[in-house]
Amino acid sequence: MAIYMLMRQVSQDRGQVENEYIRVVKTEGNLKALDAISRVFKVSSGNWRGIGKLEKSALLLRDEYVEFDARTKFDIQISEGKDIQQNCQCHRVIIGKIKPDQCPMFLKVCTPAKPVGACMVSNEGTAASGQVLQVANRTLTDNNHNMLVICLYRVTLLC
Ligand code: SF4
Repeated sequence: MAIYMLMRQVSQDRGQVENEYIRVVKTEGNLKALDAISRVFKVSSGNWRGIGKLEKSALLLRDEYVEFDARTKFDIQISEGKDIQQNCQCHRVIIGKIKPDQCPMFLKVCTPAKPVGACMVSNEGTAASGQVLQVANRTLTDNNHNMLVICLYRVTLLC
Protein backbone atom coordinates (compact mmCIF):
# COMPACT_ATOMS: atom_id res chain seq x y z
CA MET A 1 0.00 0.00 0.00
CA ALA A 2 2.82 2.42 0.85
CA ILE A 3 4.42 1.89 -2.56
CA TYR A 4 1.03 2.50 -4.21
CA MET A 5 0.63 5.74 -2.26
CA LEU A 6 4.11 6.88 -3.23
CA MET A 7 3.47 6.08 -6.88
CA ARG A 8 0.17 7.96 -6.71
CA GLN A 9 1.99 11.03 -5.35
CA VAL A 10 4.50 10.77 -8.18
CA SER A 11 1.78 10.48 -10.82
CA GLN A 12 -0.03 13.49 -9.28
CA ASP A 13 3.22 15.47 -9.08
CA ARG A 14 2.96 16.04 -5.35
CA GLY A 15 5.01 15.07 -2.34
CA GLN A 16 3.71 15.00 1.21
CA VAL A 17 3.56 12.93 4.35
CA GLU A 18 0.54 10.64 4.24
CA ASN A 19 -0.79 8.27 6.85
CA GLU A 20 -1.60 4.88 5.38
CA TYR A 21 -2.51 3.39 8.74
CA ILE A 22 -5.48 5.63 9.58
CA ARG A 23 -7.30 2.68 11.14
CA VAL A 24 -4.91 2.92 14.08
CA VAL A 25 -2.64 5.97 13.75
CA LYS A 26 -4.48 9.19 14.52
CA THR A 27 -3.30 12.73 13.78
CA GLU A 28 -3.12 13.59 17.48
CA GLY A 29 -1.14 10.42 18.20
CA ASN A 30 -1.74 7.85 20.89
CA LEU A 31 -2.60 10.09 23.84
CA LYS A 32 -2.24 7.33 26.45
CA ALA A 33 1.19 6.39 25.11
CA LEU A 34 2.27 10.04 24.90
CA ASP A 35 1.19 10.57 28.51
CA ALA A 36 3.11 7.47 29.67
CA ILE A 37 6.20 8.56 27.75
CA SER A 38 6.14 12.05 29.25
CA ARG A 39 5.76 10.62 32.77
CA VAL A 40 8.78 8.33 32.37
CA PHE A 41 11.07 10.35 30.11
CA LYS A 42 12.32 13.92 29.93
CA VAL A 43 13.43 15.71 26.79
CA SER A 44 17.17 16.18 26.47
CA SER A 45 19.79 17.01 23.87
CA GLY A 46 21.05 14.01 21.91
CA ASN A 47 23.86 13.01 19.58
CA TRP A 48 22.69 11.84 16.17
CA ARG A 49 24.86 9.81 13.90
CA GLY A 50 26.08 11.90 11.00
CA ILE A 51 24.32 15.03 12.23
CA GLY A 52 25.81 15.80 15.62
CA LYS A 53 24.29 17.13 18.81
CA LEU A 54 20.75 18.51 18.64
CA GLU A 55 18.99 20.27 21.48
CA LYS A 56 15.68 18.77 22.64
CA SER A 57 16.00 15.76 20.34
CA ALA A 58 16.32 12.81 22.74
CA LEU A 59 14.54 11.24 25.68
CA LEU A 60 16.20 10.35 28.98
CA LEU A 61 14.66 8.53 31.92
CA ARG A 62 13.40 10.90 34.61
CA ASP A 63 15.26 10.88 37.94
CA GLU A 64 12.59 8.75 39.64
CA TYR A 65 13.26 5.97 37.10
CA VAL A 66 17.04 6.13 37.21
CA GLU A 67 17.22 2.61 38.68
CA PHE A 68 16.12 1.36 35.24
CA ASP A 69 18.84 3.30 33.42
CA ALA A 70 21.37 0.69 32.21
CA ARG A 71 24.09 3.34 31.94
CA THR A 72 23.78 4.14 35.62
CA LYS A 73 23.07 0.61 36.81
CA PHE A 74 26.08 -0.90 35.03
CA ASP A 75 28.25 2.24 35.17
CA ILE A 76 28.54 2.40 31.39
CA GLN A 77 30.69 5.27 30.14
CA ILE A 78 30.13 6.28 26.54
CA SER A 79 32.70 8.64 25.12
CA GLU A 80 31.45 11.06 22.51
CA GLY A 81 32.60 10.10 19.03
CA LYS A 82 33.46 12.35 16.16
CA ASP A 83 30.10 12.96 14.52
CA ILE A 84 31.16 14.60 11.31
CA GLN A 85 34.30 13.61 9.42
CA GLN A 86 36.38 16.31 7.76
CA ASN A 87 34.75 17.53 4.51
CA CYS A 88 31.92 15.00 4.87
CA GLN A 89 28.53 16.53 4.06
CA CYS A 90 26.43 13.83 5.74
CA HIS A 91 24.79 16.25 8.13
CA ARG A 92 23.50 18.22 5.11
CA VAL A 93 22.56 15.11 3.11
CA ILE A 94 20.61 13.56 5.96
CA ILE A 95 18.48 16.65 6.53
CA GLY A 96 17.84 17.06 2.78
CA LYS A 97 19.87 20.23 2.20
CA ILE A 98 21.93 18.63 -0.55
CA LYS A 99 21.73 15.45 -2.61
CA PRO A 100 24.35 12.77 -1.96
CA ASP A 101 26.09 13.36 -5.30
CA GLN A 102 26.56 17.04 -4.41
CA CYS A 103 29.17 16.01 -1.87
CA PRO A 104 32.56 16.43 -3.60
CA MET A 105 33.75 13.12 -2.16
CA PHE A 106 30.75 11.10 -3.41
CA LEU A 107 32.04 7.96 -5.19
CA LYS A 108 35.51 9.49 -5.43
CA VAL A 109 37.09 9.30 -2.01
CA CYS A 110 33.94 7.96 -0.37
CA THR A 111 32.39 4.68 -1.56
CA PRO A 112 30.27 1.95 0.06
CA ALA A 113 33.44 -0.17 0.28
CA LYS A 114 35.36 2.68 1.94
CA PRO A 115 32.81 5.00 3.52
CA VAL A 116 33.95 8.31 4.97
CA GLY A 117 30.73 9.25 6.69
CA ALA A 118 27.65 7.69 8.22
CA CYS A 119 25.36 8.11 5.25
CA MET A 120 27.59 5.95 3.00
CA VAL A 121 27.67 3.17 5.57
CA SER A 122 25.47 0.13 4.83
CA ASN A 123 23.31 -0.29 1.76
CA GLU A 124 20.44 1.76 3.20
CA GLY A 125 22.57 4.86 3.84
CA THR A 126 21.47 7.94 1.92
CA ALA A 127 24.73 8.32 -0.01
CA ALA A 128 24.91 4.59 -0.69
CA SER A 129 21.38 4.79 -2.10
CA GLY A 130 22.58 7.74 -4.13
CA GLN A 131 25.10 5.43 -5.74
CA VAL A 132 22.25 3.11 -6.79
CA LEU A 133 20.48 6.13 -8.25
CA GLN A 134 23.58 7.13 -10.18
CA VAL A 135 23.76 3.66 -11.73
CA ALA A 136 20.03 3.84 -12.50
CA ASN A 137 20.63 7.23 -14.08
CA ARG A 138 22.90 5.63 -16.65
CA THR A 139 20.56 2.78 -17.54
CA LEU A 140 16.96 4.02 -17.45
CA THR A 141 14.92 6.33 -19.64
CA ASP A 142 14.17 9.76 -18.17
CA ASN A 143 10.57 8.96 -17.18
CA ASN A 144 11.39 5.64 -15.55
CA HIS A 145 14.40 7.17 -13.94
CA ASN A 146 12.53 10.08 -12.39
CA MET A 147 9.95 7.76 -10.85
CA LEU A 148 12.65 5.43 -9.55
CA VAL A 149 14.62 8.33 -8.09
CA ILE A 150 11.62 9.69 -6.25
CA CYS A 151 10.59 6.26 -4.96
CA LEU A 152 14.07 5.29 -3.84
CA TYR A 153 14.56 8.62 -2.11
CA ARG A 154 11.27 8.32 -0.31
CA VAL A 155 11.87 4.72 0.66
CA THR A 156 15.34 5.72 1.89
CA LEU A 157 13.93 8.54 3.96
CA LEU A 158 11.29 6.27 5.44
CA CYS A 159 13.78 3.57 6.45
S1 SF4 B 1 29.37 10.87 0.11
FE1 SF4 B 1 30.63 10.22 1.84
S2 SF4 B 1 31.77 12.02 2.45
FE2 SF4 B 1 30.08 12.69 1.19
S3 SF4 B 1 28.42 13.13 2.59
FE3 SF4 B 1 28.16 11.03 1.98
S4 SF4 B 1 29.24 9.85 3.52
FE4 SF4 B 1 29.95 11.95 3.72
